[in-house]
Amino acid sequence: MEQVKNEQSADVVILGGGMSGLALACQIANYNEQHPDESKTAVVVEPRSNYQRDKTWCFWQHQPTPFDRAITHQWHRWQVCANGRTHTSEYSQVPYVRVDSGHYYHIAQQQLAKSESVSLITGNSASKILVCDKQIGVQCEALKITAEFAYDTRPKNIPGNTLLQHFVGWEITTDYDAFDPNIVTLMDFQVTQANDIHFFYILPFDKRHALVETTHFSKTLLTEDAYAEELSDYLSGSLGLASWHIQNQEQGVIPMPQKSASLTRREHFNVVPFGLHSDTPRPSTGYCYPHAQSQALEHVLNLFANKPPKAARNFFVRWLDQIFISFLEHHPEQAASTFFTLFEQVPTQVLIRFLGDNAKPFDYLKVIMAMPKIPFVREAVRSVSNP
Ligand SMILES: Cc1cc2nc3c(=O)[nH]c(=O)nc-3n(C[C@H](O)[C@H](O)[C@H](O)COP(=O)(O)OP(=O)(O)OC[C@H]3O[C@@H](n4cnc5c(N)ncnc54)[C@H](O)[C@@H]3O)c2cc1C
Repeated sequence: MEQVKNEQSADVVILGGGMSGLALACQIANYNEQHPDESKTAVVVEPRSNYQRDKTWCFWQHQPTPFDRAITHQWHRWQVCANGRTHTSEYSQVPYVRVDSGHYYHIAQQQLAKSESVSLITGNSASKILVCDKQIGVQCEALKITAEFAYDTRPKNIPGNTLLQHFVGWEITTDYDAFDPNIVTLMDFQVTQANDIHFFYILPFDKRHALVETTHFSKTLLTEDAYAEELSDYLSGSLGLASWHIQNQEQGVIPMPQKSASLTRREHFNVVPFGLHSDTPRPSTGYCYPHAQSQALEHVLNLFANKPPKAARNFFVRWLDQIFISFLEHHPEQAASTFFTLFEQVPTQVLIRFLGDNAKPFDYLKVIMAMPKIPFVREAVRSVSNP
């Protein structure tokens, strides 16, 4: 029998101290500080022993977040390129910002180290969750934690046949000026979109320093060599670079399910899935960071108010995403022109509100009007006949 070396109890246990787990833990610590009479104890369990910068998180920042000190760059212009055309958007009120994950982890660790009620246990993985009545037992490698409430942010297996956003990014430097630091290239569709949707993304930090990513929307991943070849070809061919130095590499696989996880159908009432493998990311875009920040705050307010957790977005937005993903699955060859039209025809502030889950009623109409009508009606019918 496995020997339990240590036992702890808390009101809340958070499985996984990545981006969303730490956001939630810091929100609980904040709430406790502001409402000491209602304070709840919380423990975060994270397998990593040391945090290092591993990702670049970007998003359109509509409102401040507790981690704004981790923002290192911001842009007010971005472009989309397809079929030999480029559309540049400019929006002075909402910047596209870049969060350094190393700074993010540092800020969270500092805040939790100061907290008397929320602690971070590193170097421990949660292997099992046992729910008995209103008690939750979390079995970790060297520890057992009991709690009344759990948030589970651990990665999950992605069901087969799910559309995936998969990418590899190289953070490169050059010995000469090669980038325009004022414009982010969100999508550069270079190749014919046959069975796969494929584009490049450029995040320029300065004239000689950028993150360049090759991104696919498809159901199968590529080999490491294939992503590397795409990046090399793009840097030398399309960007015309003679040489570059790779400073860092990052890669990811983000699920784009037609139907995102449902919080109302969760397995245990007091175990709430949260983060990339729950309903947090916007499936049609893969953006997760801004939604995790707002959902973390909402989850904490509901926790302290004894209210059930709320889904990240309403039924209508989930349905629009379902139609859009179904369209991408059935018409990958139209993806480049559709994304281009969205950025070209929908007013920038409307599109950015829509992507950030801040849309006003008329914004939906403007986005829907920019979509190719017949395929979208067909996908809408398909979604109704296959709910
Ligand atoms: C390279 C990359 C770039 C991205 N860029 C963007 C972006 O620009 N904008 C955006 O909005 N989104 C982006 N995303 C998507 C998303 O924001 C990130 O994946 C984000 O890290 C998701 O947060 P999370 O907390 O759900 O997962 P993670 O940050 O991965 O955290 C999950 C945690 O669970 C821990 N864990 C694993 N197993 C166990 C276990 N058994 N017990 C306990 N803990 C466990 C892991 O160690 C990890 O710390 C990106 C993703 C990747 C991979």
